[in-house]
Amino acid sequence: MSSFNVDTVRSHFPILKRTNRGKPIAYLDNAATSQKPDCVIDCLTDYYRKTNSNVHRGIYELAEEAETQYASSRKFIAKYFCVDEQEIIFTRGATEALNLLAHSFGRNNVKRGEVIALTEMEHHANIVPWQMIAKDLEADIEVIPVLPDGSLDRQFLSDLLKEKNVRILTLCAISNTLGTINPLKDIIREAHDHNTFVVVDGAQSVPHEKLNLKELDCDFFCFSGHKAFGPMGIGVLYGKAALLEAMPPYQGGGDMIDQVSFSGTTFASSPQRFEAGTPNVADAIGLWEALRFWGQYDLNEIQNHERTLLELAQQGLSEIPGFTEHGTAPGKAAVLSFSIEDVHPHDLASLLDAEGIAIRTGHHCCQPLMDKLGVLATARASFAFYNTLEETERLIEGTRKAVSLLT
Ligand code: PMP
Repeated sequence: MSSFNVDTVRSHFPILKRTNRGKPIAYLDNAATSQKPDCVIDCLTDYYRKTNSNVHRGIYELAEEAETQYASSRKFIAKYFCVDEQEIIFTRGATEALNLLAHSFGRNNVKRGEVIALTEMEHHANIVPWQMIAKDLEADIEVIPVLPDGSLDRQFLSDLLKEKNVRILTLCAISNTLGTINPLKDIIREAHDHNTFVVVDGAQSVPHEKLNLKELDCDFFCFSGHKAFGPMGIGVLYGKAALLEAMPPYQGGGDMIDQVSFSGTTFASSPQRFEAGTPNVADAIGLWEALRFWGQYDLNEIQNHERTLLELAQQGLSEIPGFTEHGTAPGKAAVLSFSIEDVHPHDLASLLDAEGIAIRTGHHCCQPLMDKLGVLATARASFAFYNTLEETERLIEGTRKAVSLLT
């Protein structure tokens, strides 16, 4: 286990050495996507320089090597999350994983009048696919509200589970807007007591915490590689083996079949059944490298560091008149969404951009949550383990300066 030193960590990320509008970049948009370490970038170029070939059934050395690496990535990821390799499906990302689930699992496990429950803090990726199938199935969507501090209304959830036939509960591990960390273990136990399946959208959790999915006991879990220091275009869907085995394919094509004939086709077992077509081999290997890289650091040290950055930002920004933080749940992750009275978030972001500071503004793909907060958009600074105290000071100072210009 490497001991955590932010300068050493940063030295692995070449992009952090560049400028933004001529100033050293302070990249504080990690909830949108993370930056990539050299080892991940090298892994991708090495794959294309030395190993590229299509996987599945190649009988030459190159194809065997590609196949072995692709399989090794799945093995590593399964071990990383303490599950079996047959339970790991490669997807394009969290969005594709949630669509796969809704269309394959949802369609076959929810009936007319039954309920799919989700929360008010969900990303559109964990709302829209469920709405699409609920409409076709004439099933109901029930929404669990967030409380004023951004935590989930557990009483509402308990009542809902008791009163309605909730077949699927789908929720994020960490909110991309509020930073709320949902108490998954308790929620999953409670849902299972009511025979409700639980889907966890882990897009924001994988870069901040390490989950043992066996212990967590969720039925499904998904994430995107690009938010966890890996490549874009690759992600993972985990599902309990028995559930995956009973699910029909989502897409048809090569590599997902057992036998094809014009009189009927049979399908491969999981995970191949859900990976139609040529897989994204290079990025799957890059994701393996990203998780290996991040996983070598002490998690407590990473989390302490991120907490220090969050607390510094909260303290400094809260001294600015008109500042409101959206999401103050205890123990929240290092995601800070905020508004400043009479300041449009886009104007603030433009002035910060001129100082080299990259934050995100908008609805963060959480329009229902924006409605709840009573805003059209927020400004959001989201931290990763490579961010520094100095970058956080620049955010505070830059915001102070921008506010004085804009008000
Ligand atoms: N869920 C959450 C909580 C997210 O933050 C995101 C990305 N912002 C997604 C799902 C969708 O991820 P992707 O666009 O990588 O598929």
